[in-house]
Amino acid sequence: MSTSIVVIGAGVIGLTTALLLQKKGYQVTIVAKYVPGDMNIEYTSPYSGAHWRTMIPNDQKELQENDAVAYNVFYKIGKSLPSDTTGVMIIPALDCWSERNDDTANPWWKDVVKDFRFVETKELFPDTVIGHSYTTVAVNTPHYMQWLVRLFTQAGGKLKKATLTHVQDALKHCPDAQSIVNCTGLQARFLGGVKDEKVYPTRGQVVVVNAPHIKKTLTSMVGDGTSYIIPRSNGHVILGGTRQAHDFEVDMKTAEEIMEKTVRLLPELAHGKGVKGLDIVRHNVGLRPSREGGPRIENEMTTTANGKPLLITHCYGHSGYGVQSSWGSAKKAVDLIDRGLFEKDHQVIDSIVGDLWSKL
Ligand SMILES: Cc1cc2nc3c(=O)[nH]c(=O)nc-3n(C[C@H](O)[C@H](O)[C@H](O)COP(=O)(O)OP(=O)(O)OC[C@H]3O[C@@H](n4cnc5c(N)ncnc54)[C@H](O)[C@@H]3O)c2cc1C
Repeated sequence: MSTSIVVIGAGVIGLTTALLLQKKGYQVTIVAKYVPGDMNIEYTSPYSGAHWRTMIPNDQKELQENDAVAYNVFYKIGKSLPSDTTGVMIIPALDCWSERNDDTANPWWKDVVKDFRFVETKELFPDTVIGHSYTTVAVNTPHYMQWLVRLFTQAGGKLKKATLTHVQDALKHCPDAQSIVNCTGLQARFLGGVKDEKVYPTRGQVVVVNAPHIKKTLTSMVGDGTSYIIPRSNGHVILGGTRQAHDFEVDMKTAEEIMEKTVRLLPELAHGKGVKGLDIVRHNVGLRPSREGGPRIENEMTTTANGKPLLITHCYGHSGYGVQSSWGSAKKAVDLIDRGLFEKDHQVIDSIVGDLWSKL
């Protein structure tokens, strides 16, 4: 019988990790308070843009690998399956910066993406000095996550809706699980047995408009301000954005600023009629699960209440890059789980051998 594992969380990180575990032959159960189809401020993934635009600087090699793996997987999905099935679209990207530095002048990822080139001066957005054009992917996260759930359940995975107060409560929903994977995003700050105070929310406010004629993504980074335009596979376009640490509120003044800036970047969004020409669907605020020191992807070897060794693998804290790093992060988590389960078996064998030895 295959080894059973319980994953807490049905965001983009939990679902991707669960799918990869399943592909390796594990029997997987997901337990989550919110699942695809739900919208709640405690559930970040449905609010995500989401395009692949790496934020990882040149000096962070380990995180670069996660984004590079994910770019390749998303590109393959976008190339081989229709976007109305997966929610993944391959589109052109244009990003411009007001600052020329090593990260913008010599980006580590220029050979990872397709069709990379530095743009000519005439293509730059106002107040910017350097820009990149490349082929990227846009992921309509609510649609994409429904697709992941379908793949998971059709292959025999179980998805249970439940709220846990302690990380080990996952075992009540899957008593035969050999290990727990913690993919609780921002809620890792509050979950008993984890309570990671390094995790904090970074607010992202966006305006969702209907503009099915927009099939490219643009980002302008001027000083600390970022404006972005990300189309989704259903004809909606996400206009952003804000990055405010430790903030939970919705604010209409911010929405007006976002609309003005993005219509200036791409007047065709509103058919050249200015902000009043936008077909607004709704205003959204999501909370990115940020973490001091970056995401936590690591094993914790602990014991259950009745003293049995227990492996918990943590995979949370992906801030504003959880989608674009999802496949790479999940791959790392799965490698850790394989290793952790092997070590756990050895601990059990060592203790049996130790017991026998002491009785000789
Ligand atoms: C406006 C905005 C734009 C963004 N744009 C991008 C982008 O362009 N590219 C990109 O890569 N990323 C982007 N992000 C970031 C991305 O959305 C996040 O990094 C990602 O969604 C985090 O996913 P997650 O699975 O870790 O967390 P979540 O989606 O929050 O999922 C957490 C899961 O854990 C469950 N859970 C938590 N606690 C408990 C508990 N106690 N009991 C049971 N279940 C529990 C939840 O119910 C949920 O199912 C953006 C975010 C925002 C807000």
